[in-house]
Amino acid sequence: MARILTGIQSSGRPHLGNILGAILPGIELSRDPQNESFFFIADLHSLTTLKNGTEREEYVRAVAASWLAFGFDFNKNTFWRQSRVQEHTELAWYLNCFTPFPMLANATSFKEKAEKLSDVNAGLFTYPVLQAADILLYDANIIPVGKDQKQHLEMTKDIASRFNLLAGKEILVLPEPRIDERIMTIPGIDGQKMSKSYHNYIDIFLPENELKKVIKKIVSDSKQLEEPKDPEQDITFKLYSLVASDTDLAAMRQNYLNGGYGYGHAKQALLECMLEKFAEPRRIFNYYMENNDELESILIQGEAKARAIAQTTIGKVRKVLGFSS
Ligand code: ATP
Ligand code: MG
Repeated sequence: MARILTGIQSSGRPHLGNILGAILPGIELSRDPQNESFFFIADLHSLTTLKNGTEREEYVRAVAASWLAFGFDFNKNTFWRQSRVQEHTELAWYLNCFTPFPMLANATSFKEKAEKLSDVNAGLFTYPVLQAADILLYDANIIPVGKDQKQHLEMTKDIASRFNLLAGKEILVLPEPRIDERIMTIPGIDGQKMSKSYHNYIDIFLPENELKKVIKKIVSDSKQLEEPKDPEQDITFKLYSLVASDTDLAAMRQNYLNGGYGYGHAKQALLECMLEKFAEPRRIFNYYMENNDELESILIQGEAKARAIAQTTIGKVRKVLGFSS
């Protein structure tokens, strides 16, 4: 039996990158009867970039509704809000004291975010330690994540090994990342990594007219309609390749190469493809966003299951560190 664990920050509504990079691979793994899945809403992590509490609550609901929209079975698996299980923050503190400063200073995602965000706080810097705590609390074996998280998973293993060395035995289980190499880091509408905190994302749950507006904003070069275009260099084409069938993709590639086909046409095709492909998840997402009580009771049910496991792990850690009595 393998334990699968992954989390999504409530720093915005989940986007195409989260869905293809984390939600769909996570749900696929969770369907295997041999696996037990732990999927959580990383609301503590979201505080590194989002300070507004009302917005956070809305995004927590949106993250939860997204998992459910893609068919996550909350009875078989465990699903909860990170902030409701206080052992996450407690373990993060202990692990902070096992984390070498240069390891965090070398984190690529920190450097990237620090360049783009105006608020570069200490929480953003120590984020990988809280993430290590999220994983290690639940003895998770497999972590399905996007490529952007690979380095953080290496840090988790390094931190856990340091703790186990002190303990003299394997108290914390070393996890393995599960990165689907076919799934690239999904680009946002500006061509950089699609991220909630960069506001360059495609929210597939938006009403049709708003989704259309976002897709219209995808950056392209200034080639005229009649000119041939390079599909490999174009963001709209890249996004289309993630959602379209092979036949439709081949047709669009040919249209680009032939010329007489504008970026506006490609964007319209992308919109239609998304609306069709995600019709059912869009319906379920809206249902849960409108039925908050139902969503809330699902999350509360998950919290109890998560807390019981987290308390066992933290008990062992406290004992090693002399905090048990
Ligand atoms: P933030 O900007 O707040 O960091 P994010 O959009 O990067 O938000 P996270 O909550 O940090 O999303 O990541 C949740 C999961 O989604 C992780 O497994 C991450 O690897 C995956 N993910 C995030 N962005 C992408 C992307 N652009 N392409 C593929 N996977 C992604
Ligand atoms: Mg991120």
